[in-house]
Amino acid sequence: MSSSPVSVAQNRPSWDEYFVQIAFTVAQRSTCDRAHVGCVLVRDRRILTTGYNGAPAGLPHCDDVGHLLVDGHCVRTLHAEQNALIQAALHGVGTEGATAYVTHQPCLTCAKMLINAGVRRVVYAGNYPDDYSRRFLDAAGVELVHLARNRQADTVHRPDTSNSK
Ligand SMILES: [Zn+2]
Ligand SMILES: [Zn+2]
Repeated sequence: MSSSPVSVAQNRPSWDEYFVQIAFTVAQRSTCDRAHVGCVLVRDRRILTTGYNGAPAGLPHCDDVGHLLVDGHCVRTLHAEQNALIQAALHGVGTEGATAYVTHQPCLTCAKMLINAGVRRVVYAGNYPDDYSRRFLDAAGVELVHLARNRQADTVHRPDTSNSK
């Protein structure tokens, strides 16, 4: 993999970059290595909840017992977006008008859940191209933003020390 200069790191991250980076940190907790996905629900620049993909609480994890594959998909896990929404339900946190920051583009099921949870904006970094998901979000008026990752590290923003602030 080529290593290009990390030009963006010379500046403070934007809010979108900031929360996407946090989503990558959250994804490190994933227990299904088919995809480490993280989601952060944000409103008014405050984190409401976070979620990563993994087995339901108290059940065995893919990392310990292997995947549960059906039609090429691992069905053992809840998706990151689902877990973030469930955390909101569990703790009584409203999600109306929130932005979802995700490491990957949401799948169709997650897109539908985000729509009904009142999420108005989805910012994602990596790939998980799902045409139906895009179409549903678009039809529901949810803004979908692809924020290409432009840093070397998943989690660490390295300020440019030569550019003192
Ligand atoms: Zn799995
Ligand atoms: Zn999903």
